Amino acid sequence: MIIALAIAARIRGTVASDHAVYGIGELISPPAATDPSRPAWWTFRLRDYSIGLIGGSISTGVGSYDSLGPDPAVLSRQWDASLGPKFRSGPPAPAQLDFRGHDWFDWAWPDRLVILGAGIQHGSRQGVNATVFTIPLWLIAALAAMPLFISWSRQRRLRRRLSQGRCTHCGYHRAGLAPEQPCPECGRQGAITTPTTSP
Ligand SMILES: [Zn+2]
Repeated sequence: MIIALAIAARIRGTVASDHAVYGIGELISPPAATDPSRPAWWTFRLRDYSIGLIGGSISTGVGSYDSLGPDPAVLSRQWDASLGPKFRSGPPAPAQLDFRGHDWFDWAWPDRLVILGAGIQHGSRQGVNATVFTIPLWLIAALAAMPLFISWSRQRRLRRRLSQGRCTHCGYHRAGLAPEQPCPECGRQGAITTPTTSP
């Protein structure tokens, strides 16, 4: 029976010039020891929430890191003192691992859906899981400029129809109609202004 009880939680926040990271960690007690001669392995799991400016894109991600160790105090200190886990030892991977900070931004992502630089990427390896959402700055600028562009092109069409003596609603050519007469095509009141010469 596995008893995974969070007995400690830590919150760390770091801000670098290009990214900000917020992490919440929890210390998870090991399963009940079946063999008293073997040490019980604690898990320290950190969840990172980060946002950063990477290669002309805003990337925001959620990562999770597991560290294992026989001494919960040591595990906590490791996380407390660093930007990332410096080691993971014991089962299931006895090898020393070294993940620093936000290497996962540079991963070759196995699962990714990215179109024109915008998308979602997910990957995991050796106890580290990460999901990153990316949106390029040019796309943000383009979306922000969209209402401006729509209103500009509406104004432009309106002015063109007026100058050509057309109905401002449907574009019907109002040649020979008095300005106060409704449009024969759409029935709405046409341009109040007198049509100027057609090109
Ligand atoms: Zn019309």
